[in-house]
Amino acid sequence: MRFVHETLPQRVVFAPGDAAAAAAAEVAALGASRAMLIAAPSAAAPADGIGAALPVAVRHDEVVMHVPAEVARRARVAASAGGADVLVCVGGGSTTGLAKAVALTTGLPIVAVPTTYAGSEATNVWGLTDGDVKTTGVDARVLPRSVVYDASLLLGLPVDMSVASGLNALAHCVDSLWGPRADPVDRAFAGEGIRALAAGLPAVVADPAGMEGREQTLYGAYLAAVAFAGAGSGLHHKICHVLGGMFNLPHAQTHAVVLPHVLALNAPNAPEAAGRIAAALGSPTATEGLRALRAALDAPRALRDHRMPEDGIAEAVGPVLAVAPGNNPTPVTEENVTALLRAAWEGADPS
Ligand code: NAD
Repeated sequence: MRFVHETLPQRVVFAPGDAAAAAAAEVAALGASRAMLIAAPSAAAPADGIGAALPVAVRHDEVVMHVPAEVARRARVAASAGGADVLVCVGGGSTTGLAKAVALTTGLPIVAVPTTYAGSEATNVWGLTDGDVKTTGVDARVLPRSVVYDASLLLGLPVDMSVASGLNALAHCVDSLWGPRADPVDRAFAGEGIRALAAGLPAVVADPAGMEGREQTLYGAYLAAVAFAGAGSGLHHKICHVLGGMFNLPHAQTHAVVLPHVLALNAPNAPEAAGRIAAALGSPTATEGLRALRAALDAPRALRDHRMPEDGIAEAVGPVLAVAPGNNPTPVTEENVTALLRAAWEGADPS
């Protein structure tokens, strides 16, 4: 066995029910005394609680999905005008993304307090949009220095959003098994992530206000993001990035719909990955296991339900082929990408 694995430097604190004290301790450990607290209006309540324990110098609530450049610019101005020396973000991937955009140009450290299962907090990837063009990049400055996971902050995440976001995390795990830099460490994280998500998500659906399912799912989402940060974007993420950019589709739901189709395409030519997924799902095969989990969760099925136009299928084939990873287990062709996109658009059974 010969490989190189880079572990990203980050403190991770799991503190159920205790985000305020944990975030305050992380800010103090950084020696910071002027926090910029970033949270969307929808996260005002948890942000108030966390902010009360922090030396807040600036409060910023303009959060927009996919971080438009103008929104990032205003946040950077606010950080500098307020003399912030640390960024504390409370919210989903869009909020973490805004903190990353500020860190990218200012070098300010981030303490991230996630409220979805998106996983952006555990990666060094940033994203910004200008008009309808989304640019992403990798930069050490945007990796949060600390993450505080408090499952109680997710108790109010609606069940349908919890399912979509949790399946977005599952997609991080699955794509990590064949991502361009996938190594045995990434695969180990991915396998344990799948197991935890498959245990946690049905418990969230059965009891959305219960802590146990939320904690398992959050733990799985963290592992998923670490695996993904190591392995890089495989075919699944490339497809979702193209579709999201072209048709402004909702991030988590797009991942939830596309995942079984990419798995069905790749599983026959990726026996080791398929075996790991099946084992983690406790199922005879990977595809059957995912089908059963999705049925139990009443997962999103069709891109047309999320306003992707039918003629978008033909439009997206070329851009997907242009970015498909060369190491994808099943070679991608115009024919199989077209079939995959049509099946995902219609909500057909993956085959
Ligand atoms: P989001 O942050 O836009 O949140 C989705 C919705 O859920 C929003 O309306 C938000 O207000 C609401 N919400 C969030 N937490 C809530 C809670 N606890 N209770 C009730 N409502 C809540 O979406 P997301 O799926 O978390 O993140 C998607 C974004 O993150 C995309 O832009 C994606 O590109 C990015 N992302 C980046 C990376 C990375 O590594 N850079 C990884 C994953 C996702």
